[in-house]
Amino acid sequence: MKALQYRTIGSAPEVVEIPQPEPGPGQVVLKVTAAGVCHSDEFIMGLPEDQYIYGLPLTLGHEGTGIVHALGDGVQHLAVGDAVAVYGPWGCGRCHNCAEGKENYCTNAAAEGIQPPGLGSPGSMAEYMLIDDPRHLVPLGDLDPVQNVSLTDAGLTPYHAIKLSLAKLGAGTTAVVIGTGGLGHVGIQILRALSGATVIALDVNEEKLELARHVGAHTAILSNEAAVDTVRELTGGRGANAVFDFVGAQPTVDLAGKMVATEGDVSIVGIGGGTLPVGFGVIAYDAAVRTPYWGSRGELIEVLDLARSGHLSVEVETFSLDEAPRAYERLHEGSIRGRAVIVPNA
Ligand code: NAD
Ligand code: ZN
Ligand code: ZN
Repeated sequence: MKALQYRTIGSAPEVVEIPQPEPGPGQVVLKVTAAGVCHSDEFIMGLPEDQYIYGLPLTLGHEGTGIVHALGDGVQHLAVGDAVAVYGPWGCGRCHNCAEGKENYCTNAAAEGIQPPGLGSPGSMAEYMLIDDPRHLVPLGDLDPVQNVSLTDAGLTPYHAIKLSLAKLGAGTTAVVIGTGGLGHVGIQILRALSGATVIALDVNEEKLELARHVGAHTAILSNEAAVDTVRELTGGRGANAVFDFVGAQPTVDLAGKMVATEGDVSIVGIGGGTLPVGFGVIAYDAAVRTPYWGSRGELIEVLDLARSGHLSVEVETFSLDEAPRAYERLHEGSIRGRAVIVPNA
């Protein structure tokens, strides 16, 4: 079968021919219907050899949907032909966090060498994909796979971050979204659906700001020092009750720290390497700073329900598997509107 693999440190991913996976006992093989392109893929492919821990060759793709193609011995409650979405942050399934469905915070994964698909295990950018356990699949139902595959990360990650701050986002409050790309443009929609907050979006790209307005931001402004004053003006000097930084670079983390209100939250979601000092005099009183990672299985079910009820619409640009390297070039250029999605069996 065809797959998109990262094979050489520092090189672009390549379309290659590899053996089709067979399910072992308790495993499932999917015929992949869609696979999303995340900025985190670019991040890991940019790591130097001594920091790269994901194995080579690596079949990319940590956002996936598929049709159940084959069941290993003992798999119950799934049938060939079922439409499913892949829960990506695989954990051990036994620890306390996994028992709560929070496999994103599994306490055994690192020690046991358990890695998510596309981030260590073979991912969704292939015609077929091996799932280690049916626990890592949730029903997709009649949701369109191409339109909704990115909810498994670009939806789930902002959903998890926003849910942690919802108690601070009642009517009359303000939320700031920094970076309105794949994650950010879904984050804006989640804020509009779940909170009473006025949403201010920041980006460095005018087309992304237009997308932010299109998906529901009340205000969309350039991401620079002047944005701090604008946010203060729009909030009567108070600042934002929650800031979601989907870039996480030093300039954006600095802005987030300057914009946050007393008792507000800063969630650094983007892995841009920025750090935010916390202490008296450097950030608003009682502000909390978080670094949320992905989300729980229960939250993935909730995100898909939110899409089913018509509240989420991912902007998608589709590519075939052969065109997938180009999708990564376009992501690098910053010219993808919303999310790039690979359709391996088009
Ligand atoms: P993306 O490329 O689709 O979007 C990034 C957006 O940020 C673009 O619109 C870009 O124009 C904008 N941007 C860049 N620099 C900016 C700046 N200085 N100020 C404001 N906006 C700026 O990326 P994505 O796939 O949405 O991923 C976003 C980030 O989140 C990445 O760092 C990714 O690795 C990370 N991520 C984290 C998690 C997690 O669990 N914490 C999960 C998925 C992705
Ligand atoms: Zn991702
Ligand atoms: Zn676990």
